[in-house]
Order: sequence, then structure tokens, then C-alpha cells
Amino acid sequence: MDRLTCLVITGTDGTHIVVPALEVPRAEASPLADADVEIVSWREEEDPFALVASLLPTRGVVAVDDRMWANMVLGLRDASPYLTIRSAGAILRDLRARKSPDEVAALREAAAAVDAVHAQMPKWLRAGRTERQVAADLRAAVVEVGHATADFVIVASGPNSASPHHEASERTIQRGDAVIVDIIGTMPSRYLSDETRTYFIGEPPTQYRELYTVLQKAQEEAFTAVMPGVSTQSIDAAARDVIAAAGYAEYFVHRTGHGIGLEAHEEPYILNGHPQMLEPGMVFSIEPGIYIPGVYGARIEDIVLCTESGAERLNHRPRDIAVLDSHLSNRQGDLPTANREPVGQSTFEERTGGTAV
Ligand code: ZN
Ligand code: ZN
Repeated sequence: MDRLTCLVITGTDGTHIVVPALEVPRAEASPLADADVEIVSWREEEDPFALVASLLPTRGVVAVDDRMWANMVLGLRDASPYLTIRSAGAILRDLRARKSPDEVAALREAAAAVDAVHAQMPKWLRAGRTERQVAADLRAAVVEVGHATADFVIVASGPNSASPHHEASERTIQRGDAVIVDIIGTMPSRYLSDETRTYFIGEPPTQYRELYTVLQKAQEEAFTAVMPGVSTQSIDAAARDVIAAAGYAEYFVHRTGHGIGLEAHEEPYILNGHPQMLEPGMVFSIEPGIYIPGVYGARIEDIVLCTESGAERLNHRPRDIAVLDSHLSNRQGDLPTANREPVGQSTFEERTGGTAV
């Protein structure tokens, strides 16, 4: 928020939540009221940074959230000139990356919910509809299956499927299109789902089937490689090597995956040059993609849990190419979409800058 709202944790002098006076009722109604956290409020005419500084030692190190606004960090620096300000990301990273059993259960529930959306795709995805029409139906469905919000919906058809972060346009889906559908939603638990499947409208040409077979093998190899003590970059390599061996190296233009939890993208990142070791309880995506510019693309994404003995998928939709509409014609008409408003469109972009891969 633009008014400073700040949890202040010290090693010795307790924990405070600093809130603007108008937010006190919400702070009192929040779980903070039951925790050992003292609510400290400031009025509009007061300097909230001086208040935060008064709760901190005058010298030493303070670690601030990675997403604290720059003007807040600078305000704190001016109010506490003898404190060294660092990023708290490195401290929180390991705590966030390893999920507790309760967190795993919440992510499992989220994965089941988004599976239920992909399972109904033939209801919405077919030739004659625009990407935007399909995306609007998907956003409604994401909430209907139990999410609190639909944060990000990619419907990338035909040549658009070659753009990994294409969202949804006015393009009309046609027979002969590959369609990448990637969905991120937030559950009432605040944990997120994230799943991609690639559909084909009509019978895929041989070249596309070959590309897809390579991609499917890459996703499977990365999944199989997951084991405690294995580095995240070797999981990336397991997928990338399959794609490179088939001649598509230059068309796999993003990392293989990302951790997921209270945010859609967090540690561990499944990425070359990022030698983090997998541990039991880590939950992340495995989502290789192949994108031929201007022609078509494909991506398969599952959320995966690292267990003591290997990997477990939390998403269970089939990973074969999903052929839709192969016998239907467009004359069957469109589903009614007229009165549906997109749901919760801004949430994800506000939180993450709107990236899905
Ligand atoms: Zn995704
Ligand atoms: Zn993802």
C-alpha cells in the first residue's frame, strides 16, 4: 500500500506491526491479533519512518522484504542513517522453498482445482471462438472450481503459441491451430495453482507431432531426474538436453521451472547456472516449451513435489497432445459469454509483473 504498513521483527524487542490508523480495524481482525504482535499505528500527519526507526536499534543491520517499495526503503534509510539495509530474500528463501506438510496439502488442493479446469477444456476451446472468449470462460471456471481468483490465463493459438507469454487476443481460433493454455489461480488458502497443457484443433501435422513428442520426453526426463540432493540446474539440463538433441535448442527460450507457494514464482528456480540442491518438501514447476517463431509452439507444465524418494506430480491431466474439435464443425455455435466479466484480472500482474513462465 502507499501508506507504510510494516511488520518489524527484532531479535530482542518483540514484534510490531506498524499500520496507518485507518487500517487498525483490519489489523485487529487479522491473524496478527492472535499472535504475539503489537499493533502500532500512525496518523496521516505523522512520519511513519520515524516510528519504524524508533522500534529498531540505531545501529546494525535491517533486512527488508524484496518487494518493499523503493520509496519505503529510502524513507527508512533516511530515518535510520546508521542502519545497514539488506535484502531479506536470502534469509526467507530457504524457509519459503521447503514446504511444510500443510503447505503441500494446500498446493495439492490447488493443483486438483486447476486440473478440473483443464479437464473441461472441450466445453470452451474450439474453432470459431476468439482467444479472449475462451479466456473469459476459463477465468470464470477457475473460480467455479474453488479458486478465490483467476490470476493469469494464457490462450495462445496458432502463431501466437510461439510466444511464451502471449495472453489472449481477438484472434479467432482455427482448425489446424496449436493452442497453449496456461492457467494460474489463487486458492482461498492463498496458495497458487499453475498448469499448462497444449491442445490441437483438429489433426496435428506430422512435424508438430514430432516436436510435441520431443517436448513430452523432455518433460518426463526432467521429472524423472528429481531427487533430493540433485541440483536444480541438472533438472533444467535433463529437459534441455532432450530438446537440444532433437535440434530445437534455440527454440526453448526460458528456464525449465520455478518454485510455487504463496507466490507463483519463488525459489527454487529450475535454471541453468543456479546450483541449488533439491530437498524434500520443495514444490516447483517443470515446464519445458518449444516455440517456432511465427509458426507454433508447445509447453507442458506440471507442479511437482520433491519427496524423500524422488518426485511426485501434483497435476494429473494427461500429458499427450490433446486433440480437440477433430470431428465438430463451427456451426455448432458459440457458448454464451455475454454477461461474464473477467475475474480478478489485476491480482497476478500487480504481484509479479505478470510473467507466467
Ligand atoms: Zn504456467
Ligand atoms: Zn509456471
